[in-house]
Amino acid sequence: MEKILNYIGGKLQEPVSGNYLDNVEPATGQVYSLIPDSNKEDVDLAVKAAKQAFPSWSKTTKDERSVILYRISELILANLGELAAAESRDNGKPVSLAKSVDIPRAAHNFRFFATAILHFASESHHMEEGAINYTLKSPIGVAGCISPWNLPLYLFSWKIAPALASGNCVVAKPSEITPMSAYLLSKICIEAGLPIGVLNIVHGLGHKVGASITEHKEIPVISFTGGTTTGAQIAKVAAPMFKKLSLELGGKNPTLIFDDCNYNKMLKTVVRSSFANQGQICLCGSRLLIQSSIYEKFKIDFVREVQKLKVGNPKSPDTNQGALVSKLHMEKVLDYIEIAKTEGGKILCGGNQVDLSKEGLGGYFVEPTVIEGLNMSCRTNQEEIFGPVVTIMPFETEEEAIGLSNATSYGLAASVWTENVSRTNRVADQLHMGIVWVNCWLLRDLRTPFGGVKNSGVGREGGFEALRFFTEPKNICIKY
Ligand code: NDP
Repeated sequence: MEKILNYIGGKLQEPVSGNYLDNVEPATGQVYSLIPDSNKEDVDLAVKAAKQAFPSWSKTTKDERSVILYRISELILANLGELAAAESRDNGKPVSLAKSVDIPRAAHNFRFFATAILHFASESHHMEEGAINYTLKSPIGVAGCISPWNLPLYLFSWKIAPALASGNCVVAKPSEITPMSAYLLSKICIEAGLPIGVLNIVHGLGHKVGASITEHKEIPVISFTGGTTTGAQIAKVAAPMFKKLSLELGGKNPTLIFDDCNYNKMLKTVVRSSFANQGQICLCGSRLLIQSSIYEKFKIDFVREVQKLKVGNPKSPDTNQGALVSKLHMEKVLDYIEIAKTEGGKILCGGNQVDLSKEGLGGYFVEPTVIEGLNMSCRTNQEEIFGPVVTIMPFETEEEAIGLSNATSYGLAASVWTENVSRTNRVADQLHMGIVWVNCWLLRDLRTPFGGVKNSGVGREGGFEALRFFTEPKNICIKY
């Protein structure tokens, strides 16, 4: 059985303990590879390697770093098929999605920051008192990057690329549930000639590897994407050590559908924004708010379109919905469907596990599920389910839709459907979210700030925001 290895000091290495964890294929429920069960000792080795590499890497020119990152991007694209198949097998997502979204975006992340760093200039401020300030932005040192399982290589590279581009060395931990594409990335980094120790990837459990990264005295900056509870735990440990923190956390995103929208375009996109990646994208809209004048029509059309989604083998090109990432996660999602029923929710479609064992797939498939009849204060509408489950609810006025949208502890993203420009501006302005899409969803310009408010996190990723996060500004004021 294939063994995944850590990538430390430029080498692929066994964990110090020699222990491994099972890596399960979500579509079959079978173990198909082994993951290093790393611990503090492996993290210490990775930090040591990163510290040794830092003086030289931080002094390379931006051009030199750019060339290497660009090479990594090209190698990701050259291995697109292999990476997409690996990501799909490891995560359960349809291979078509991995091929069209996850892996191209991982390549784009490296390409984007390979060029963005070339334009990340120092600032200068002239004072009438006869002085000039200039602000240097220097790499910080060893950055810790911790990422989740839902978009494995996409989110892993989204952190690593800006950290490396700005001259830091990195100790990174992918989710233990989906380690494969990060392992393949370590091989690509070796092939691309990334200097020894600049990037170190330590595989293993969150409470061992993740916690060791968080606690490590030599890691002054941490970029984390994951659940709100884990984010709070990381903040609790890191804050008294005055670490720089970026926390991209959970969401419970509203989709606001007004009766003046472009209906057909909306319907097509909202099926996707609700169920892409089996609803396991932090940006998926799980609370659908529909203006009452079109509620009944929307309900019929939406349920019809959702029922057309094919749940099946992630390897098949015509599969729309693959497997959920793990048995534990599937059970959590099914529990929430039961909770919705006890709260008075009516299941309009879905609601059940899908048994594909006759096709040799004994894994974790769940029907895309639409629920109506719940109020906004119930658990189903307040807690992040992170699966193929959405609720639909009517509203009368713009004010009501805004109030309902803002009525959770989260504030990551919203999507709004209207053709009215004034309404667009009024609504977008009042939504308490980090990201608002109007008449689209998941349309990403990597230059824009990305992140949430309230329990969805602190800090922003993307573009120069990420390069600012991974650098320390120093102001020098010269009186002349
Ligand atoms: P988790 O918070 O469980 O895990 C995220 C990462 O943190 C994993 O690598 C995990 O390791 C690690 N980890 C777990 N415990 C600790 C700890 N004590 N200290 C340090 N690291 C730890 O999230 P999931 O992987 O379940 O991902 C789903 C969540 O991520 C959802 O809430 C989703 O909304 C959020 N998310 C947010 C995004 C955003 O941009 N705002 C984007 C994508 C997802 P291990 O896997 O081994 O437990």
